[in-house]
Amino acid sequence: MSVINAFLATLTFEFNKQGKGRIFLLPSHIATKWDNPHLPPWMATKIAMLKFTWIFAPIHVSNHWILLVAHIPSMSACVLDSLNGDDDTHLENFSKYMKERASKTRELDGEWKKNTQLFSGKQENGYSCGDFVMMNALAISKHVFPNCLNQENANKMRAFVKQMFLAKGKRSQNCDSCNGRNSSNEWITCDVCGRWYHKNTTCSSSVTSSTTEWECQICIDN
Ligand SMILES: [Zn+2]
Ligand SMILES: [Zn+2]
Repeated sequence: MSVINAFLATLTFEFNKQGKGRIFLLPSHIATKWDNPHLPPWMATKIAMLKFTWIFAPIHVSNHWILLVAHIPSMSACVLDSLNGDDDTHLENFSKYMKERASKTRELDGEWKKNTQLFSGKQENGYSCGDFVMMNALAISKHVFPNCLNQENANKMRAFVKQMFLAKGKRSQNCDSCNGRNSSNEWITCDVCGRWYHKNTTCSSSVTSSTTEWECQICIDN
């Protein structure tokens, strides 16, 4: 997993645990299939998208990282791109993807608007796009407009992320139900909040062997 995907997964996890809105993270490999006329089989159709405030979709195209951000309550989306790319193509692909999903779920069945209020600062070198993606995502999760963040901030972001993963390596994972650890057990992650649970009848009771998308009791109750 790339640093960007790993960072966004951590960010999403921390944000969703606070209970002030939720981020749905579309892993970067999903967006690579948007260009394909045959849509990907995995469309998160069992998880209610209305439980989320934001969708973050990191996209990797020709060695460049951009972040598609969708605001679910207003059904608006934009692409945060630290270079001047043709981003409307990605927005169109996203709309198509969500329409296809809506045809199966009846959820968010409508037109996605372009969000013109959020945009990315511009990178001043050839390699900072990933730092901008992570920084823009972090800003939105902190309810800050990413618009005024610049190259200098991106450089600090790079150092911050490095520090964060060094610290994280030392931490271990506990089950969010029993708070215990048992390395011999299988784990399952909630697809809504990202919490970790033991995969067994006490800690994640609704799990069956055929479960592909799973929602934990905390999320079902909220
Ligand atoms: Zn447990
Ligand atoms: Zn959950």
